[in-house]
Amino acid sequence: MVGLVVKRHNSIEPIAFPAGVSFILATAGREWYRKIIKSSKILHIRKKKCCRCGKPVANDRSIYCPTCSRFAFRMKVRRYPPEVVKAIWAYIKKYGYVCYYTGMLLNMTDPESPWFCVFDHWAPHDPTKIVITCALINGMKTDLAEKEFWSIVRALANFKRHHIPLRKRRLEFWDHDYALAGPESALSSPILPTRGTGICDICGKRLKSIMFTYCPRCAKIAVRLKSDGKHYSPQAVEEVISYMRTKGFVCYFTGMRLNITDPTSPWYLVFNRLRPGDNSKIVPTFALLSVMKLDLTEDEFWYYVEALTDYKDKGTKIRKRTPVCWNRRYPIEEELKGYTETDL
Ligand SMILES: [Zn+2]
Ligand SMILES: [Zn+2]
Repeated sequence: MVGLVVKRHNSIEPIAFPAGVSFILATAGREWYRKIIKSSKILHIRKKKCCRCGKPVANDRSIYCPTCSRFAFRMKVRRYPPEVVKAIWAYIKKYGYVCYYTGMLLNMTDPESPWFCVFDHWAPHDPTKIVITCALINGMKTDLAEKEFWSIVRALANFKRHHIPLRKRRLEFWDHDYALAGPESALSSPILPTRGTGICDICGKRLKSIMFTYCPRCAKIAVRLKSDGKHYSPQAVEEVISYMRTKGFVCYFTGMRLNITDPTSPWYLVFNRLRPGDNSKIVPTFALLSVMKLDLTEDEFWYYVEALTDYKDKGTKIRKRTPVCWNRRYPIEEELKGYTETDL
């Protein structure tokens, strides 16, 4: 047997071993070779790539990385049809986990993040096209079709920037009904004081009887304000009534005339906490805007309206601004019930 010995100054010289030494070396060599094979197997597993995104797989039995594995499970739980699943994977392969509407990078791990990845019906109630978006945009988009969403966002931005009045439009999928929020009977409310002036305390209309404080229309609003707003501070209620008394039934944010008769209208008057969670200041706005505003402050809401418009119109990347009052948590534990990484 001949071995190679490295000598000083890196010169390599062949040397010959006696028979006994050769045997020992050959046995040790075999062991060493086995170890190499073993570790190369490990290397092989480590090198196995996720079939969707190319990142290392979760474990040797999985074809997915941990992110794609959880994501695949969420789709499975939702029982999306195979062609929907296929389309979603094709999207992810092409773009990665980014919001379909805004291109913002999605958060795949923290269900409390406004950028947590959620599924969205591209057209409300239509199960044939599902896209991924973030909790924030999903909330803002509410029951709107994509086209309606962009049109209302753009109209809001135009109001904010150029004072172009907002126009009411028909929304195909809007199905909120604020009549379901609570009874609106003027008679059921002993909390309304009788002023005896003969004119409605909000709109100034002549009353049939001086025993009333409000006309029937305004009585409903007042009751709603005081019953929805069991938690609104009395001062906040007084202030918003005074606002309506002087300005009429107009949206605080956009100046748009509000609908006060049809609780199913997107333009129906509702009350919105100016700062989420804070009952000391409430303002009238329309149902749609109140939904779109989510847990955003007034500033944040306008920021996103403008950022979305610039993204849509000019392709400007949306800089993420963390909503300071964000208080939503996606129920991911429910969706991942029974999930283990080895399943997929
Ligand atoms: Zn992956
Ligand atoms: Zn009135």
